Amino acid sequence: YSGKQTGQAVAESMTNMKVKDFQSIPVVVSENISVYDAICQMFLEDVGTLFVVDKNSYLTGVLSRKDLLRTAIGSQDLNHIPVHIIMTRMPNIAYCFKTDGLIQAANKLIERQIDALPVVIEHTDGLEVIGRLTKTNITRAFLSLAENHDL
Ligand code: ADP
Repeated sequence: YSGKQTGQAVAESMTNMKVKDFQSIPVVVSENISVYDAICQMFLEDVGTLFVVDKNSYLTGVLSRKDLLRTAIGSQDLNHIPVHIIMTRMPNIAYCFKTDGLIQAANKLIERQIDALPVVIEHTDGLEVIGRLTKTNITRAFLSLAENHDL
């Protein structure tokens, strides 16, 4: 690490990083699937957060690992509980756009103490989910910065 010039170059690269350069594929489920099926989906797709959409494919909720665990330890028939009963729902969902800066998105993750943000496109009648931005994506961005600047 060679001082001021490297520092400036790193700072510039960092502020230029966008959500779209690091986002992952979103995994979405319908509001009416059961908690049991959501747990299966989470394992099958190997993600920590599922996004819930309505019949128009617009974002209505978020399901985290602990949302599902909490329900699993408290109830008997996970096949008969639809996810819309237990999900965190709109309008209380933090999201981002693919053109947002990565620093801004990272700030939302920390402020809200969450693992993932849906990347959305805003339509007049709802939010279309096009991506998923997680703490892992931020960690990858951090590493790419180190690699690109030979740190
Ligand atoms: P976990 O609950 O497994 O620790 P999170 O920290 O991501 O995972 O989730 C904490 C809580 O915040 C959960 O109840 C979850 O539904 C909610 N949550 C997760 N992501 C979001 C988001 N993007 N916007 C609003 N709430 C969220």
